[in-house]
Amino acid sequence: MLIGGAWIEKEEKIDVLNPYDGSVAGQISKGTREDVDLAVSAAKQGLEQMRELTAGERAAILLRAAGRMKEEQEQLARLIAQEVGKTITEARGEVARAINTFALSSEEAKRIHGETIPMDAAPAGKGKFGFYIRVPVGIIAAISPFNFPLNLVAHKIAPALAAGNAVVVKPATVAPLIALELGRILMDCGLPTHALNIVTGPGSEIGDALCSHPDVRMVTFTGSLAVGEGICRTAGLKKITMELGSNSPVILMDDADIEVAVRKIRTGGYALAGQVCISTQRVIVHRAVWDEFMSKIVPAVSSLKMGDPLEDTTELGPMVTASELRRAKEWIDEAVAGGARLECGGKTDGSFLTPAVITGEVRTSKVWTSELFAPAIVVVPAEDLDEAILLANDSAYGLQAGIFTRRIHDAFRASREIETGGVMVNDVPTFRVDHMPYGGVKSSGLGREGPRFAVEEMTDIRVVSFCEGL
Ligand code: NAP
Repeated sequence: MLIGGAWIEKEEKIDVLNPYDGSVAGQISKGTREDVDLAVSAAKQGLEQMRELTAGERAAILLRAAGRMKEEQEQLARLIAQEVGKTITEARGEVARAINTFALSSEEAKRIHGETIPMDAAPAGKGKFGFYIRVPVGIIAAISPFNFPLNLVAHKIAPALAAGNAVVVKPATVAPLIALELGRILMDCGLPTHALNIVTGPGSEIGDALCSHPDVRMVTFTGSLAVGEGICRTAGLKKITMELGSNSPVILMDDADIEVAVRKIRTGGYALAGQVCISTQRVIVHRAVWDEFMSKIVPAVSSLKMGDPLEDTTELGPMVTASELRRAKEWIDEAVAGGARLECGGKTDGSFLTPAVITGEVRTSKVWTSELFAPAIVVVPAEDLDEAILLANDSAYGLQAGIFTRRIHDAFRASREIETGGVMVNDVPTFRVDHMPYGGVKSSGLGREGPRFAVEEMTDIRVVSFCEGL
């Protein structure tokens, strides 16, 4: 663990397993509540150190870290592939994005603005000159999931540091190694010793201590709904951002370009074995193009090449753990027992779930109502856009959605009426670039990430009023 600029090793360790072959990819220390306390008090000093830095200096550190990650790109990608089981191609993509997230955050450090306030617009403001500035919130607890163990940590650390905060990170226990590597890189790049602290260990044992700590002013969490709701209860009066799950829908209208939609869904539904928060899960297809879509999607999905994640040609990696594999298989079996049909896949094969397309009676099954988080899509028909939007909104979640259509008024209507954090036109919901505002509505969360928007979340507004006449 990284606490107060020192690498701390505990006697009790946790093995980090490679999901592909079960080999040990590394070991981490099992942190305790006492370690959390140490990390938070180190962060208190870190906050003082960060106050000494100018915006330009903070920007320079983040940019140096981006450069260092670029130099080490291939080793970082291999480590991600080994601890998460995502393909090396996906892991390289994640490192490239994390570099960009740091570079973008470096830019944001230089444009944290306030505004003047026309105080004398109110009678009591006569003779007053007012403005507001943005100040760091203080110590931020950053809790991250397994599926993008570098870029999602980057989305928390980089804007937090850009804004002058100090951070305590708790990475996911199944994939914590790359976060520790990022800590090493930031220390090498001149980040003040106490500004970034990383505590490893089971969230169920140390999470509460971190989230409820009175010196922590903000919790930024990415993970599942159940854990997120628990954190909201224990955190108390703190700023919170919650980036939670979804069962993202995509609508294919009767004028959709089916070739393009199939190609994009083949990626959007199955990248990282479907373990992506904006994975394309629910596909709503206009009846007029149902046959064409089904005749193309099933062979396209069946052709996904499963295999060793470290091989360049592999397209589909394993599920992250045996228990996640079991859960996903159970949900699919339950759906089939309830009247769903498997058009392909849905079987276990070692640590893999074969890529599935599910149709039939699905609306009451978990594969439709919950976040499946597995390489599978659920396809249902719709008569028209009215019904398609109703189906898209038939969810407790609302992170991102997609619609394929050439009719601009349908695209606008979908953008207005789907209850979600983002609508991707002629694309899958799985589309994201790192500078856009990203986050959900309903059970998908609170607040937005993307460096510019995260900096807003991670700063407080302070009003200053000058009285001109004494
Ligand atoms: P998870 O089980 O909720 O875990 C996320 C993090 O929370 C881990 O670091 C975990 O630690 C920690 N944690 C567990 N219990 C805790 C507690 N009581 N207090 C504080 N922290 C606790 O999620 P996951 O399985 O890693 O990731 C998958 C989920 O993340 C999916 O639902 C996915 O949709 C969501 N996700 C959302 C986004 C987004 O931006 N909206 C992006 C990616 C993923 P341990 O690992 O030690 O249990």
